[in-house]
Amino acid sequence: MRLLISGVLAALMMAAAAQASPKAAPVITYTIAPRLSGPDLAALEITVRFKADADGVTRLELPDQAMGRKGAWRNLSNLTVEGADSMVEDGPAHRLVRSRPGRRLILRYTLSGVLNREPSQSDSYPAEPWIASSWFYVDGPSAMVAVEGRDDVPVSVAWDDAWPKDFHLASNLEGGALTDPRAAVLIGGRDLRIVRAGPLRLAVRGNFAFADADLARSLETILRAERGFFGDAQQTPYLVTAQSLKTENGSTFSGTGKHQAFAMAVTPNLSLDEVRVLLAHEIFHTWNPSRLGKPVGPPGYWYSEGFTDFYAHRLMAREGQITPQAFVAAWNETLRAYGTSPAIAMPGEEAAAKFWTDPNADQLAYQRGALLAAIWDQRLRAAGASLDAVLDAQMALHERQPDLTIAKALLEAAKSQGLEVRADIEAHIDQGRPIRLPTDAFLPCATVTDVTTPVFDRGFEPKVDDKGTMTVADLREDSAAYRAGLRNGAVIVQRRKGGGGDATTPYELVVRDGDGPVRTLTFLPQGATTQRYQQLVLTPEAAAAPTLCAFRPNPSPPSL
Ligand SMILES: [Zn+2]
Repeated sequence: MRLLISGVLAALMMAAAAQASPKAAPVITYTIAPRLSGPDLAALEITVRFKADADGVTRLELPDQAMGRKGAWRNLSNLTVEGADSMVEDGPAHRLVRSRPGRRLILRYTLSGVLNREPSQSDSYPAEPWIASSWFYVDGPSAMVAVEGRDDVPVSVAWDDAWPKDFHLASNLEGGALTDPRAAVLIGGRDLRIVRAGPLRLAVRGNFAFADADLARSLETILRAERGFFGDAQQTPYLVTAQSLKTENGSTFSGTGKHQAFAMAVTPNLSLDEVRVLLAHEIFHTWNPSRLGKPVGPPGYWYSEGFTDFYAHRLMAREGQITPQAFVAAWNETLRAYGTSPAIAMPGEEAAAKFWTDPNADQLAYQRGALLAAIWDQRLRAAGASLDAVLDAQMALHERQPDLTIAKALLEAAKSQGLEVRADIEAHIDQGRPIRLPTDAFLPCATVTDVTTPVFDRGFEPKVDDKGTMTVADLREDSAAYRAGLRNGAVIVQRRKGGGGDATTPYELVVRDGDGPVRTLTFLPQGATTQRYQQLVLTPEAAAAPTLCAFRPNPSPPSL
């Protein structure tokens, strides 16, 4: 686990390091230069300046694991070290550099890209470097050679003077930071747009459904709300990098948290409302779980994902970033998916084991954690306390006892606010007993009711061939899809609407039969049987006064 150090603090530390004794470890700098072929960008030339280890043998870690793929070192070439006696391979992902102890060394290498075109949805994220003729998008784990054993040495990224003047460039480590160099993100391009809003810098390429300035303002609000929630410094610079992905099927939002930054790639069919809740969730992970308890992997995801989802919606409602109607709609989506999930009663151990392989088990973590957060929040509010105060107590507890696991830290912190959560965790997480919200869980914002709807029934199976073409198979003649005119073998050109197991939203498919023209057809994916689940209904009071859905804690809660 890595401590998050603010950029300001890191800058101070770097200044201190520069003035300290000559023995103090210097900053490791990464200078990024273009390799040009005429006017076109062909590769990145990376120069790393650092001091050799005191014993004269310095081990370098080449990029290897990046987003679950191995062998990222394959994109590096021309590795040389100036000032060394020798450099030898130590397996494909490491190099041993022998030199005079403590000598200043200069490592140089070329980083090649894997994508010389605009990225599509299936490209997902720059797990390997995206370097095209007029732009690049590079994630730290795929690009940065790290000097082993330098966890206590700040790193910084600098842009070489050789960059053509019309290239716009951005990295989160320009100011230097005490972090792993692989926590860097690098983006640049002749058409890169850089927009600022307070401490927030947005570096963006491609087209989206919203204006850059609107996204930047939303991000600034998210950052202010979440930093405020956790009591972090407000002025630390924060970078968000965004690249649009050409839409192929449905929508995609992929991204990872970096040091004081978030790097993402998004299809342009996502609205700002959708993107800002996703970002509120992702940026909340800056603190959850690493600042709230010792992470334990999938068995703790109900907390790290579920509470993160709960607070993404709550904080966006509190900041007026989503309307009460959108807040209720988002909760209803969760409640419907949970209430109709085939995995609703899956015991916790099984759900954790299947998190990466079973989409229902994956969703269960988000659903269970968010529902329990809502129930506990209601009990605390009824007693004049708040869940916000539990998280405050939990953060303080984690600082004192960093070895407490996330669930134990929650248990203790809740107890300090007068709430006992052990029985609920045993029943609903460990044993998997289905969770039901009490009718007053969301008052005064919304009431909880039960609804009965037809079950979800698409009526066919989508079949994808090895060229990625999706066709209709196993179509039943008693289905709504058949009645709407869909036939077996039809090519699905695009799914505009529907899916996700939602029986109440019509499917809108663009299809083509054989060599015929494309046509659009619409049907409700409903079967003959029904299902029951809980839903929220906005109260008339909250529709008139949106702050009723903000659930602001009482500024001076009475002690319990
Ligand atoms: Zn998450």
